This record gives sequence, C-alpha cells and structure tokens, in this order.
Amino acid sequence: MSNEIEHMSCLIIGSGPAGYTAAVYAARADMKPVMYAGDLMGGQLMLTTDVENYPGYPKGVHGQKMMEDFLEQAKRFGTDVRQGMATKVDFTGPVHKVWIDDSKEIHADTVIIATGASAKWLGLESELKYRNIGGVSACAVCDGNFYRGRDVVIVGAGDTAAEEATYLAKLCKKVYMLIRRDEMRASKAMVHRVKNTPNIEILWNTDTKEVLGDDSGVNGVLVVNNKTGEERKLDAYGFFVAIGHKPNTDIFKGWLDMDETGYIKAVPGTSKTNIEGVFAVGDAQDKVYRQAVTAAGSGCMGALDAERYLAAKGIH
Ligand code: NDP
Repeated sequence: MSNEIEHMSCLIIGSGPAGYTAAVYAARADMKPVMYAGDLMGGQLMLTTDVENYPGYPKGVHGQKMMEDFLEQAKRFGTDVRQGMATKVDFTGPVHKVWIDDSKEIHADTVIIATGASAKWLGLESELKYRNIGGVSACAVCDGNFYRGRDVVIVGAGDTAAEEATYLAKLCKKVYMLIRRDEMRASKAMVHRVKNTPNIEILWNTDTKEVLGDDSGVNGVLVVNNKTGEERKLDAYGFFVAIGHKPNTDIFKGWLDMDETGYIKAVPGTSKTNIEGVFAVGDAQDKVYRQAVTAAGSGCMGALDAERYLAAKGIH
C-alpha cells in the first residue's frame, strides 16, 4: 500500500446500508466519495439470511444479495470502494486525518462514519453453528416472522430483550425468555409488559448450555438453572440473542462525543458530530432503531449534511 498522503473531499468509513446510501448520495452530488469497507464488507446484513422488511423487495431478499445491490448502486455513480480498516484518526482539523490499516494516511474534508455496531453473542459453539445453518438470530424484528406459530427462545433481560420478547410473542406460539439473574435490567414499563404477556415464560437464573438442532436448523435449546444445576430441554425453532450490541467506534474515542456505551452523539435531527465536517450515521450513532432502512435513511442525511458543509466552506 502506498504511503503517500491522499486527499479527498469525502471519506466514508464502513459499508453497511448507512455507508452505501451515503455513498450513493455523495457520488451523485459529485463529491467523489471514497469508501473504506472495513472487515466485513456489507456489514451486519452479510450475517443474516432473508430480509423481508426492506422496502423495495416485495418478495424478500437474502442479506448478502441486498448488500451486493447496495454496492453496485454505490459504484454505479462512481464511489471508489476499497478494502481496508480505518485504524486511527486525528480530528484536530481543519482537514481530518484518518489512517487505514495503520499505514496509509488520508486527509479528508468530510468524514462520514458508518462503522455500525456488532451484536454480542453468547460464544457457544452450537450458537455459531446454527447462526450459519439457520435458527439463531440477534434481531427479532428481522427474523421473527420465520417462526410464526412456533416456539422460540430469547436470551437477555435488558430493554432490547424485553422489546423483542413482546414482539415475538405476537407472532409465535410461545416465547421462553432466559434470564441469567433473578431480576431484569429492563425498564419497569418493559418488565411489566413482559410479565403481562401470557405466552412469554420467563426462566429466571437460567443459562444456555447448548443450542440443539439438525441440518435444517434449530429444534431445541438445552438450558440449565444456575442456582440448582437442573437442566431442561426446551422445544423451540428459533433462538434469539438480545444481550446487547457494541458500536464499532473505539477509534473515535477521545475525539467524538459518545454516550457511556460508545454510541456517537449526533446533533438531534442531523448527522453532525461535535467535530465540524465529521458526520455519524447508522448504528454507530443509533441504539434504538437499528434497522437497515433507518440506517440507510441516516446515511442519506450524512451525505446531505456533508455536501452542505462543503458548500458552506466553499470547498465544493
Ligand atoms: P443491555 O446492556 O441494557 O442489556 C443486556 C442484557 O443482556 C442484560 O440483561 C444482561 O444481563 C444480559 N446479558 C449480557 N450478557 C449475557 C450473557 N452472556 N448471558 C445472558 N445474558 C446476558 O442491552 P440492550 O440491548 O437491552 O440495551 C442497550 C441500551 O439501549 C440500553 O440503554 C437500553 O435502555 C437501550 N434501549 C432502549 C430502547 C427503547 O428505549 N425503546 C429499546 C432497546 C434498547 P444482566 O442484566 O444480568 O447484566
């Protein structure tokens, strides 16, 4: 890789729906965007199976196919999509410095951060196995529909787990909620909703021992009570993990304002961060909605904000 410093007007970091949408808008606005795609080109949707809730795909679409479409559209207008991870930044300004793979130095007038978030997983071998085969998910809104009328399990006791459990309860016959302690972390209102949903069965002090299944996917979950040691096999076809997400924002710590869990704080209603010319879009700044379509919408905002910034500075 060349060690020469490269200057660009718009650098996009990350290649999920937010990054690609920012790229489409920035490229069409003639900002000549350069995108560094990160470790997982296409982002979290590369890890999912069918996506049925993204408008424009009436028959649903495989996550990987959808991200190929996003990529093609970004490239069609001239986005320069490259492999590489942003590993360090210096936002002392006015030009923003970003290093790729600890070597290549970039100077950008605007930076659109679309680095996303990663779901946390339990770390069981069987969980990983069925993430690939089918039946394990970290997003009830994305995948709940596949288990309509069936029994499912969800792990977690925060607001996400509570929200997803009640969402699943509307579609599924029964939802087993595995909670590792004897209380829930979720807000009182959410706990109340969960407890008052008749087809949610809470299993307190319960850990997942193994996700069970065969070549067609998950068909059960082996759980253990961590107080008594008693094991139980639950018959279930979906296994949802809702134990939190981690925004991929570590390299921006100390530069950008973030909340206590690392989500970048954007000025409400915009993608602007506390640094002029640096914009945050998608899941890196959204812990509430976290949908492909909301990420895409926010990517559009990032490109429009960046374009206006460049115009106001007379750079573009
Ligand atoms: P949280 O970090 O709040 O909760 C994670 C939950 O997962 C906790 O109950 C934790 O258990 C449990 N957990 C963690 N690791 C494991 C494990 N290895 N095995 C079993 N259980 C585990 O994450 P959320 O995603 O729920 O929420 C993140 C933030 O987003 C919160 O601030 C939340 O309030 C907010 N949010 C707000 C919403 C809204 O306003 N509508 C909707 C969703 C989220 P333990 O309690 O024992 O640590």
